[in-house]
Amino acid sequence: MKAWRISQHGGPEVLLREDRPKPEAGPLQAVVRVKAVGLNRLDLWVRKGVPGHKFPLPLIPGTDSVGIVESLGAGSDELATSSGGPRVGETVIVSPGISCGRCEACLGGFDPVCPQYGILGETRDGGLADFVCVPYVNLIRKPSSLSDVEAAALPIPYLTAWTMIERRAQVKAGDFILIQAGGSGVSVAATQLCKLRGATVITTVGSDAKAALSRAQGADHVINYRAAPFRDELKKILSTYGRRGVDVVLDHVGSDVTADSIKSLVWGGRMVICGATSGSDVQIDLKQIFFKNIALMGATMGSKADLIRLVNLAGLGRVKPVIDSTFDMSKLPAAMDRLDSRAAFGKIVVTAEGRV
Ligand code: ZN
Repeated sequence: MKAWRISQHGGPEVLLREDRPKPEAGPLQAVVRVKAVGLNRLDLWVRKGVPGHKFPLPLIPGTDSVGIVESLGAGSDELATSSGGPRVGETVIVSPGISCGRCEACLGGFDPVCPQYGILGETRDGGLADFVCVPYVNLIRKPSSLSDVEAAALPIPYLTAWTMIERRAQVKAGDFILIQAGGSGVSVAATQLCKLRGATVITTVGSDAKAALSRAQGADHVINYRAAPFRDELKKILSTYGRRGVDVVLDHVGSDVTADSIKSLVWGGRMVICGATSGSDVQIDLKQIFFKNIALMGATMGSKADLIRLVNLAGLGRVKPVIDSTFDMSKLPAAMDRLDSRAAFGKIVVTAEGRV
């Protein structure tokens, strides 16, 4: 099969399209013929490398895959029968998180904190290939109302947004939410989910074009942070509601905005961080945290159960992935360049030739 692989970290040139043996499904595994793969910032980190972090190279990247079940390994057929799960020939969304399935974290319902937790395309071969081999339990039947491309845009952004909103910040109807970098995949997902919750959403974006797109996703107010400092604009917006701060900040920008994000919170506010694109070294005045009763929380990925719920929500049309652009899988480096440029609004999805 054809597969994109990296054997060393670096620029676009380290992504090589190679001939690899087609994977075979082992016990309780399934092989999926890939149709579409949603790209995430994680794919860039995997390619570029992260200081102090070791990836298992060589590696086929690609976290969020959709495809057709090609074959089932020993025991998977029985599992499909007993659980009513997908069969050979059905189109599935591949849940990207891999965990042991038997520890307290897994059985407690939040597998991302399993000591064995890994992600397809980060800790083992992912979907940027003709075929990907995964545990059978990671297959989720794709709702027919979702296109393959939309389905591939779901897993990591919606799962991460869900963890931030439902599990960490516990957003309630009436909350005011500031979502930094409103055009990213996770922020678009967060905007939709916060609106579903009945919150008032304020996003920050880097252009007027993105501002219009963010409003179209339900944002009540959008701040172009390149036109004016976001704190000043936020104060103006909040003053029209007689408010001094937001209840929740959702952020993955990091050091460029951390201090101002904390200052934007009301007393008792919550801030959830799921990334640090601009840098992770920040100075925090702890007095602001304890005097104001601020909760600072981290989030990454989400549980398999939460993804099943999100796929159902998307199938019902209650949330809808936003597609920035699609690229043929052979054009992966160009797709990654677009992701890296931060020009995108919503998701970039690569599709397998002739399969979508
Ligand atoms: Zn576990």
